[in-house]
Amino acid sequence: MERPRSLPDRRRILKGAALAVVPYAALPDPRAGAHTRPVDHPLAEWQPATPGNYTASNRPTDHAVDRIVIHVTQTTYSKALSIFQNPKKKVSAHYVVRSADGHVAQCVRETDVAWHAGNWDYNTRSIGIEHEGWVDRPAYFTDALYEESARLTAAVCDRYDIPRNRAHVIGHHEVPGTDHTDPGPNWDWTRYMRLVNSV
Ligand SMILES: [Zn+2]
Repeated sequence: MERPRSLPDRRRILKGAALAVVPYAALPDPRAGAHTRPVDHPLAEWQPATPGNYTASNRPTDHAVDRIVIHVTQTTYSKALSIFQNPKKKVSAHYVVRSADGHVAQCVRETDVAWHAGNWDYNTRSIGIEHEGWVDRPAYFTDALYEESARLTAAVCDRYDIPRNRAHVIGHHEVPGTDHTDPGPNWDWTRYMRLVNSV
């Protein structure tokens, strides 16, 4: 770890040296990494929601993040992504996990407030993870879906120092005031939390 005060000077010196020998266009864009990999979860594919479907924010500076909300999409993975990209829908989640292979799409940056819980307080303090499937179709809850989602939840817990327990990893049905039932009785919480704690 370099001390922060030394960084600007070092950068200026390095950039100056580089400018002396190569044309500007050949210099790497310092933001290139942000463009090619804007995800917070290294295994996720960036599938951005339309900006009208979430609230830009600067978490955890302006809102502490202390919950993960588990959802089931009640539609397919690809339709969930297109709903989040449709400005008329006014809904989004940070992540969508695909049933067949556990592939993870990130749709909203964790710094921003996704609109998934139906409760502003819970939206501001949580990360929302959608899972492809239906509450009454347990075959959608595959081994790969549980495993990749647990890996994601464990990583989010580490990032914000969230305890890996059911008080902090909750179902949408546990959000105060909600009429949603997901993830429903077929979601195996015992198995899921064991996986989250074994990552
Ligand atoms: Zn939900």
